[in-house]
Amino acid sequence: MSGYRIDLEEVGEWAKSRGFRRVLIQAPPGLWPEAARVSEFLEKNGIEVIIHGGSCWGGCDVAYLEAKSLRLDAIIHMGHSRFLERDEVPTYYLECRYMDPEPLRSLLRKVGERLDGFRSIGVGLTVQWLDFLDEFLTGLRNLGFEPHVGEPMGVLRYRGQVLGCSYHPLLGLEEVVDCYLVVGSVFHGLGLALQTSKPTYAGDPHTQKIVKLEERVRNLLKSRYGHIQGFKRARRIGVLLSVKPGQRRVKLAMKLKKLIEEADKVSEVVVVDDVRENYLQDLPHEAFVNTACPRLSIEDQERLRKPLLLPMEVAVALDRVSWEEIIRTPRYMAMEIPL
Ligand code: SF4
Repeated sequence: MSGYRIDLEEVGEWAKSRGFRRVLIQAPPGLWPEAARVSEFLEKNGIEVIIHGGSCWGGCDVAYLEAKSLRLDAIIHMGHSRFLERDEVPTYYLECRYMDPEPLRSLLRKVGERLDGFRSIGVGLTVQWLDFLDEFLTGLRNLGFEPHVGEPMGVLRYRGQVLGCSYHPLLGLEEVVDCYLVVGSVFHGLGLALQTSKPTYAGDPHTQKIVKLEERVRNLLKSRYGHIQGFKRARRIGVLLSVKPGQRRVKLAMKLKKLIEEADKVSEVVVVDDVRENYLQDLPHEAFVNTACPRLSIEDQERLRKPLLLPMEVAVALDRVSWEEIIRTPRYMAMEIPL
């Protein structure tokens, strides 16, 4: 039995009622066995299925290009909530929420010890755990905490939800919380910790670990600052422009290219799908700017020997803002650049 809540009948009904006969199923590799299960069910119900064998990083990364080139009727995108407002190809977001609350319940017992001393906590959960949000909040209250969650906003479709690139409702609670707890993974907690000066913890129900992120953030920012210095020394800069629908920022890429050229450097816009370190390594650019998923600059930098700056880090390199003005604020991961 699968550990995910997947309503096959509902997916089938969605496709059938719209008359879709050929669909693409896209899922992160961890959900490929579930994708095969969905495929089997749909095929038994007379719908032809093609499985996408590439990456699927988030709801921003919907395989419209593949579906269009194969003239498929629709996409079933698994593992993420809706990110994009409009569909270029009709898309069903099959979120695959967890069915078993036990890992979250046992994590809760540890929260009491790890967050002892705090009272008001800003809490965010990844979409997979959201079915148990209310139970988790009640548990926190029973432990004597005062939990706060953000309301839905933009790409965050649900109360209490966080994404690796989006924490706005939680950051809006900064004045009322003593600390933050993000339930999901260190990856999800770190994205928030980089944008706030409040102590931030990441709780992972699978590993049962609750990690304080302060030291990681300090080390990471130190290394980011080093990459900004590397960028300043570089002469030829590649501005990465993604074709992924939720990461495609053409205007920002063009604006960055212009600003970099005004700073007496040479710059080219480089179009990418998945960002691959070996390709970036071989390109003739000495440094890159990332206009795609902001987390690439955080997660992939160590594998790449060339700086891969966020737009606001470029603003620091070009002396448009100071480092102190952006670090540990929501501006740090903002995919924009001040003119
Ligand atoms: S932009 Fe990055 S962090 Fe945001 S949803 Fe997409 S893959 Fe995840």
